[in-house]
Amino acid sequence: MPSEFDLIRRHFDRAAAHCDLAVGDDAALMAPRAGMQLAVSTDMLVAGTHFFADADPTLLGWKTLAVNISDIAAMGAEPRWALLAIALPAADETWIAAFARGLFDCAHAYGVDLVGGDTTRGPLNMTVTIIGEVPAGAAITRGGARPGDDLWISGQPGLAALGLAALRGEAALTDAGRTRCLDALHRPQPRVALGLALRGIASAMLDVSDGLLGDLAHILERSRVGATVDLAALPLATLLETGAAPEFARRCLLSGGDDYELLFSAPPAARQAVAAAGARAGVALHRIGSVDAGSGELQLRDADGRLRPAPATGYDHFA
Ligand code: ADP
Ligand code: MG
Repeated sequence: MPSEFDLIRRHFDRAAAHCDLAVGDDAALMAPRAGMQLAVSTDMLVAGTHFFADADPTLLGWKTLAVNISDIAAMGAEPRWALLAIALPAADETWIAAFARGLFDCAHAYGVDLVGGDTTRGPLNMTVTIIGEVPAGAAITRGGARPGDDLWISGQPGLAALGLAALRGEAALTDAGRTRCLDALHRPQPRVALGLALRGIASAMLDVSDGLLGDLAHILERSRVGATVDLAALPLATLLETGAAPEFARRCLLSGGDDYELLFSAPPAARQAVAAAGARAGVALHRIGSVDAGSGELQLRDADGRLRPAPATGYDHFA
């Protein structure tokens, strides 16, 4: 039986690129660059709640880190360091090695050092703490949306939820569509480059982990504003190409979780700058509505222009 220390040394102790002292001591040592603020966040993934216990460990390793990096991206910050607290039911080294491979793949793709953590026996559970850097005062919070701002969403929300539905046998997709949706579900690509490009442009931002409408409600609450989402402006075409039924696809787009796209507001005067940021980051951006006065009220505009209230809790509750 490998000891806890064997497991750490073999699987989680890798050279760190920008850290004074990483795995192996009582604490890691690192210094933010001059003028930088630290952006710190943590996210827990629990078997049965966030993933299936028999999930592919390499994909799980990727996703465990990716969802944390996404929170740093959503602040307009640059991810730098991560810590991993992991509970494992058994010292299954094949599983651990595969998990570590996925985790370090993601770490290298986004320039993140794994600088420490904790390893214990217990029901499978992974908690990452991620630390990023952002020039002092430049972070994009949830609290800066103003009436009159446009609302934007990056990429293709809804793919991950369609993937999950396909796994559960709740959606019949084409083969290519299924592959695309499962890839979005298992290998989310946090929008770090886009987050950085939107500094000084976006007035408020978050990453969509729990569904577009539900997460939009967080911006409305923190910014004390309302919003109208234009149903006709939603990027539905790509979802329909997967073979999904239109109404189901729209539900996935509005209320499906796990996409890790960026939802942000910006003044209309910044439309060209927003488009340029999307182009620089190589991410499609869609203008899906606008911010208005009112505190927390969320409305949907039908294709024919009619407005109806949307409970901020999400699409399912009023479908
Ligand atoms: P301590 O007894 O001080 O809690 P540990 O024995 O838990 O230390 O960990 C030894 C070293 O290995 C520490 O530097 C810790 O940060 C690191 N570490 C433990 N588990 C992990 C992990 N899963 N990933 C990365 N580093 C880890
Ligand atoms: Mg410990």
